Amino acid sequence: MSKTAVVTGASSGIGEATARLLARARYNVVLAARRENRLKDLAAELGEGALAVPTDVTDPDACEDLISRTLETFGSVDVLVANAGLGLYGPIAEGNPEDWRRMFEVNVLGVLHATRAATRHMLEGGSGDVVFVSSLAGRSVPRADGAVYAATKHALTAIAEGLRVEVQARGIRVISVEPGLVRTEFPNSSFPSAEEYYAQREYSPLEAEDVASAVLYAVEQPPTSASTRSSCVRQNNRSRLNTKT
Ligand code: NDP
Repeated sequence: MSKTAVVTGASSGIGEATARLLARARYNVVLAARRENRLKDLAAELGEGALAVPTDVTDPDACEDLISRTLETFGSVDVLVANAGLGLYGPIAEGNPEDWRRMFEVNVLGVLHATRAATRHMLEGGSGDVVFVSSLAGRSVPRADGAVYAATKHALTAIAEGLRVEVQARGIRVISVEPGLVRTEFPNSSFPSAEEYYAQREYSPLEAEDVASAVLYAVEQPPTSASTRSSCVRQNNRSRLNTKT
């Protein structure tokens, strides 16, 4: 029987690429994000093993509904890819508290809401993979204007480590994927031109498909592999994902 993966932030970038790759690997995929048209187009393209469930991850009830719809349609939730996130870059001294609130609501609380709903079901069955799409910014602060974004990803590092201690012995595997720069729509929230943003970096970005491959690699490991962490390294001016199991 096919496994079922719920992917948040599936309307673009890393989430979309991950949903495509999981569908190609014969997972049922449940696509969650706010932009309904994009989700529906992707679901139509991926075929009958795909379901679009428009979801704002900042709403705990919507995350519960996402998991209920998944169970009604496919009968299980085997993988959660908690990927939805955003980066609103700016200083602290003259920063915008509304941007800080939005980042914490999506990148931290949104991840918690989706994780809570999915792990409750996984614990009943005694198996499942929770994948957090975090960032190198969850381990250090790469940019002066990225302190608050990095703070949300540091929070995710703590949540992943804490959840691992909580559920690992009960059959749930917690996986952290921590990419560096990836070419997606991510810069659009803070910078006038994504292309200019990428061109100004002194190294070339990963593609969303690279991160999707790291996710697929991790969830395909045998259940005896207790945890996996992928992190980004730079080699010959290229970004590369290292995956350790
Ligand atoms: P994109 O902007 O392409 O994708 C972000 C996704 O998050 C979209 O699908 C968006 O969908 C979704 N999203 C945002 N807010 C919400 C919300 N309230 N509810 C549900 N979904 C939401 O960027 P990426 O693909 O790059 O980002 C994906 C993840 O990867 C993020 O967590 C990001 O922090 C992380 N990351 C990105 C890096 C990069 O360089 N690009 C580097 C390291 C980590 P919609 O707007 O339709 O709701």
